[in-house]
Amino acid sequence: MRIIRNIKQMQRISREMKKYGYTIGFVPTMGALHQGHISLIRQARKENNKVVVSIFVNPIQFGPQEDFHKYPRNLKQDAKICKQEGVDIIFYPQAKDMYPKGYRTYVTVEELSDVLCGKFRPGHFKGVATVVTKLFNIVGADCAYFGQKDAQQAIIIKRMSQDLNISIRIKVMPTVRCRDGLAMSSRNKYLNQEERKDATVLYQALCLAKSMVDDGIRNTKTIIAKIQNLISQKKSARVQYISIVDLDNLKPIEEIKSRALLALAVYIGKTRLIDNTIIIPKI
Ligand code: AMP
Repeated sequence: MRIIRNIKQMQRISREMKKYGYTIGFVPTMGALHQGHISLIRQARKENNKVVVSIFVNPIQFGPQEDFHKYPRNLKQDAKICKQEGVDIIFYPQAKDMYPKGYRTYVTVEELSDVLCGKFRPGHFKGVATVVTKLFNIVGADCAYFGQKDAQQAIIIKRMSQDLNISIRIKVMPTVRCRDGLAMSSRNKYLNQEERKDATVLYQALCLAKSMVDDGIRNTKTIIAKIQNLISQKKSARVQYISIVDLDNLKPIEEIKSRALLALAVYIGKTRLIDNTIIIPKI
């Protein structure tokens, strides 16, 4: 396994791999790798000759008050995991090379970026779409793997790739959870013991919503009120948003008639956690 820091070198190696007819599977990450990332790496390993994992804490997707500086970074541990999982290349660029002096170009996916998390993290998805476009251009992969954990991100990246005619397949893999249901996240490291217990309420809220829909309840206001109430019973929890939206355009819906996305963001203490589920009403 090689760790490539240089952008041009990564592009050269990618061209070389393609010349030999290898397919490249690509897993973009911000590091602090956990089972969620590993599930993407394993899928990429299964489906491609070569696997590239990028590790880059992308400064332009963090707001000024957000956790860019304290975001967990541990290249040594991440490299160990990647090696164990049969990754061929870790692409580990530096911010000064990704965004050199005079950098001026950004990718915006309209409308989809302004709702749900985008409403509370202005500029976040512009940062994500920009870095992913750059990484796609640098790595030149055949297929890229994303997690359903970040459902809005996956929808935006799919839309962007289609709109910009980027010739890459996008695969979205299921959310990997801890035993108690909490979605794996690098940010779970921020939680203290008490908060970690309270954090399971996000998953419980998703399950409650699903069971309400199974019981025939279709009105989204009723469902949201009920899960808002469940979450607010936890001392450390503060809801940022709970939304039930159309899976294609992310617009809120009133009555669940077909597959819909329930997405939520909740502060547990000072840590902002997100989770989501796809709701499928029985007919
Ligand atoms: P991150 O390092 O948080 O930017 O995540 C990199 C990729 O891993 C993204 O596509 C995430 O959606 C995915 N991911 C993060 N957590 C999970 C999880 N618990 N299950 C599945 N995929 C995940």
